[in-house]
Order: sequence, then structure tokens, then C-alpha cells
Amino acid sequence: MTAPLFQRLALIGFGLIGGSIARGARLQGLAGEIVATARSAGSRARVAELGVVDRVVETNAEAVKDADLVILCIPVGACGEAAQEIAAHLAPGAIVSDVGSVKAAVVKAMAEHLPPNVHFVPAHPVAGTENSGPDSGFAELFINRWCILTPPEGTNADATDKLGAFWRGLGANVEIMTPEHHDKVLAVTSHLPHLIAYTIVSTAQELEGVTSSEVLKFSAGGFRDFTRIAASDPTMWRDVFLNNKDAVLEMLGEFQEDLSKLTRAIRRGDGEALFDHFTRTRAIRRGIVEIGQDEAAADFGRKHPQLGKTAAE
Ligand code: NAP
Repeated sequence: MTAPLFQRLALIGFGLIGGSIARGARLQGLAGEIVATARSAGSRARVAELGVVDRVVETNAEAVKDADLVILCIPVGACGEAAQEIAAHLAPGAIVSDVGSVKAAVVKAMAEHLPPNVHFVPAHPVAGTENSGPDSGFAELFINRWCILTPPEGTNADATDKLGAFWRGLGANVEIMTPEHHDKVLAVTSHLPHLIAYTIVSTAQELEGVTSSEVLKFSAGGFRDFTRIAASDPTMWRDVFLNNKDAVLEMLGEFQEDLSKLTRAIRRGDGEALFDHFTRTRAIRRGIVEIGQDEAAADFGRKHPQLGKTAAE
């Protein structure tokens, strides 16, 4: 049996991402011991009950003791304070990382507290679901998804490589970027789509002349696909928009221009413009399937009952 990559992994926060890292690391034998903590006593008790980590402790400071890998798996807005809490308790030479969906603001908030004798290698696994909490994680979440590392200038290359190896062990592909570039890429691929989904769902909810029950009943027309994204954790997404303000506003400006073009095409009855636009966007969907970032199955692979058969058959 090969030795684990890390002797002791400390997870601060145990929700969808922390819980998935714990389950994957345990399955793959990536850490000799896994220690976890969560903010509330209720979540800590549930993590202990789940039995997917070796120890559950009460405080962040206790969790990081003698750990050679520490990963903050908490909302972006809480990372600075957590870094401050753990700073004096970190083992020399430890790798300290996070999983925040925003990088520049988090890197800045954490870096100012961390001592010079640890290696800070921020990360963002681009994988998720709309669920949260200790029960929501699963070991396969990161398989064939990308994990972006954003090491600050001067970061020890071995530490970056070792964290990359950890993520590869969880099944992810690894890419390195600057925090600023990460924030632009994610603003358009993740943050803007979430904002649009949050908008559409509330627009539908507040419409006059169409009842809420009609919106739900006829949601298979497209609406329900937005509701999955709009059901994402409110704390996490509040923090994303507060901490990636500039990049999101820039992408929102581009989006509003494109929306105006489509609005004009509809108003003018310009079928050619609409057809050309929709043809280009269809090609993007095919591209995503081709590079294995989604299933080729139609309708997101939803199962359709067979005509003439009852559910029990
Ligand atoms: P989650 O399921 O809601 O879990 C959050 C964890 O953080 C819980 O253990 C929670 O403890 C703790 N927590 C909440 N507020 C806190 C605070 N103010 N201070 C300290 N701890 C706090 O969230 P998640 O989806 O795993 O997200 C965690 C991080 O991963 C976020 O930074 C997010 O940006 C990033 N991320 C999320 C996704 C996604 O799709 N969800 C994808 C990639 C990256 P309690 O249970 O005790 O409240």
C-alpha cells in the first residue's frame, strides 16, 4: 500500500464541498487522518454520526493542530476571520488552502493573517450541486471536473504540486491561474448564470396574470432547469456577489448589451438574427458535451416513464 499524500488533513467546514473532500480522500487513502470541524454544534454532531472522518473537534484552532494540509470549506466571506483564528496554531510547513468560488478577495483576506512558515495555495473545485450541509457531499463530486489553483507569486512549487496531486487523487483535473483571471472566467461561467437564474425565478414568482401554480405546473417548458441553480445556498451566493463585484458587473454589462440585441431582434421581427444567435449557442452546448463536461443524454438524462406501463412495473 502506498503512503498517504498527507499525514493529517484538517477540514474547516463540512458541507457539500468539505463533506465530498472527506469522503473522496478517505476512499482514495489520500490522508492518514482526517479531522473536521463545523461552525454549529448540530453540524459537528451530524459529521461525527456520519463516521466519514476520524475526529470531529469544536474549534478551528484545534482542527489545524499538527495538520500538514488544512482546507477551509466555508463561505467566502468567512475565510479571512477563519485564517486569523488558525494562524497561530498552524504546523510549520503546512499547506493551507480553501475552496472558495471567488479567489482575489479571499486570497487577500486570508494571506494577511497566515504566517510565513506555511504554504498558502488557494483552490476552487469547479463542481457542485444545489444541495448543502453535512449530508450533501459524495466522493465522486470532483471526478472529471476542474480544480483551479491560484498560488500567489513566490509560492513554493512543491506545495502547489502536492495540492494538485491531492485534487487529482479526488478525480479532478488541475489548472493554475491568477486569482484575477479566475474571477473573470467564473463570473461568466458560474456567477452570471446564477444571477440570471435567481432573476428569472423571482420574476416568474411575482408575475401578474400568471398564477404561481401555473408557473410550477408548466415548468417543464424550461423554467424548472433554472430553478435547480436558483435553489443554491443563499449564504454562499450572497458572499460570491459581494466578493466578486467588479468581474460580475463587467460580465453583467456585456450580458445586458446582448439581451438588448435580442430584444431588438424580437421587436423588429428579425427572424434571421434570432436564428443565427440560437444556432451559435446550440454549438456551445455540443462543445460542452464533446469535452466531457456534461452527458450527451437529452433533457439532462431525466428518466421518462414508458407509455402503457405503471410505475410499479
Ligand atoms: P455548505 O454545504 O453550506 O457548508 C458550509 C460549511 O461552512 C458548513 O460546515 C457550515 O457550518 C460552515 N459555515 C457556514 N457559515 C460559516 C461562517 N460564517 N463561519 C464559519 N463556518 C461557516 O457550503 P458548500 O457548498 O460546501 O460551500 C463551501 C465553500 O465551497 C464556499 O466557499 C463555496 O464558495 C465553495 N464552493 C461551493 C460549491 C457549490 O456548488 N456548493 C462549488 C465550489 C466551491 P454549519 O453547518 O455549522 O452552518
